Amino acid sequence: MDFDLSPELAELQATVRKLAQEKVAPRAREIDETEEYPQDLFDLFAGAGLTGLCIPEEYGGSGAGIMGLTIAIEEVAKYSNAAALMLLLTRLPTGPVMIAGSPEQNRRYVQPVATGEARAAFGLSEPQAGSDVMGIRTKARRDGDDWVLSGTKCWMSGVRQADWYTVFAKTGPADSRAHDSVSAFIVERSWPGVSVGRVDRKMGVRGVDTGELVLDDVRVPAENVIGEIGGFRLAMLGLNSMRPIVAARGIGLAEGALMYAVEYVKQRRAFERTIADFQGIQWKIAELATEIDAARLLTYRAARMADAGLFTKEHVPFLSMAKYYATEVAVKVSGEALQMLGAAGYMKDHPLELYYRDAKQLTIVEGTSQVQLGLIARGVLDHDLWWD
Ligand SMILES: Cc1cc2nc3c(=O)[nH]c(=O)nc-3n(C[C@H](O)[C@H](O)[C@H](O)COP(=O)(O)OP(=O)(O)OC[C@H]3O[C@@H](n4cnc5c(N)ncnc54)[C@H](O)[C@@H]3O)c2cc1C
Repeated sequence: MDFDLSPELAELQATVRKLAQEKVAPRAREIDETEEYPQDLFDLFAGAGLTGLCIPEEYGGSGAGIMGLTIAIEEVAKYSNAAALMLLLTRLPTGPVMIAGSPEQNRRYVQPVATGEARAAFGLSEPQAGSDVMGIRTKARRDGDDWVLSGTKCWMSGVRQADWYTVFAKTGPADSRAHDSVSAFIVERSWPGVSVGRVDRKMGVRGVDTGELVLDDVRVPAENVIGEIGGFRLAMLGLNSMRPIVAARGIGLAEGALMYAVEYVKQRRAFERTIADFQGIQWKIAELATEIDAARLLTYRAARMADAGLFTKEHVPFLSMAKYYATEVAVKVSGEALQMLGAAGYMKDHPLELYYRDAKQLTIVEGTSQVQLGLIARGVLDHDLWWD
């Protein structure tokens, strides 16, 4: 396996690293405290071509793929997970369209996301159905050439800023748990019957709203069905291919937290030496650094697999391992890094309490850690992951 980044990806990494250090880092605390959407950072990302990283050149992107987006998100997440989420949202809702949508859908909806002229959001979860995705109740009924959608999606990231939504709805019987009873639709924000409901009050990743999308008899033309009717598989394929991108938010956060704590312990004195001189602290640094690097290898492997189209069922354990491990490492490292600062770590004068709050989001979204463990276990039981 080749562990080196290509010259293009190394250049992307250097560019985003500089941008993150100079522009994102100084804004992170303010974004958390005001909870205001950082439009300035979105404009910066769009201007630098980062909103089109994982979108093919024919649709206005740079074609850097999931690997490119993973690397960019890792750099940004070292300083702000809300800003990293803005980049993630260039792929989460566009993924199903790029995987199975028509060229016209890609031109009309994905291309403006690449250029930063439009934003999108992803609507799968409902109040009664998060992990249990087949429990969704949003209904799509056929009416002539159109579909009419009714229901409420919740916890949707970027719901207020989005111009269009990828929405999953039941096209089969309401109580059916058959996969072909769910289909995916592109819904425009400006259409009659579409509104934003409750906006959530969150413990972290503030600045990018999470909230409800209410669909009240929304008329959706047949050409806005993504793929085919009964295409629930698209939700899974889209999410499988997203695993390295969520994982990148975890490794970036963990790297940022550990780097901050290391610089602190090198100058903080106790018992007539710096606390970095204590073996207990050194072993903790070594342990966390090892776990971060292991998570990073899993994440980069998963990104390469996703770019190679390896995100169908037999590849799931490898993709889920990256998401599971990297996000759990983010929670662990942010907690341990905070601890290394003692009282200072608990205070808002330092960013570690923010990293700690942000990290917890990552083990919940896009399939909780428990859901990932279930997928990994299924892969081992089915010998998709096996060692002989
Ligand atoms: C900040 C934030 C942003 C989000 N953004 C989006 C978005 O943009 N779009 C979207 O569609 N959704 C979004 N979500 C929703 C997210 O995908 C769900 O929260 C997630 O899928 C879990 O669903 P749930 O919250 O209903 O938890 P539940 O499914 O109710 O699970 C509760 C607990 O039970 C555990 N559990 C559930 N089933 C099992 C099982 N079989 N075995 C073991 N344990 C199990 C879970 O791991 C969890 O710990 C977001 C959530 C958050 C917090």
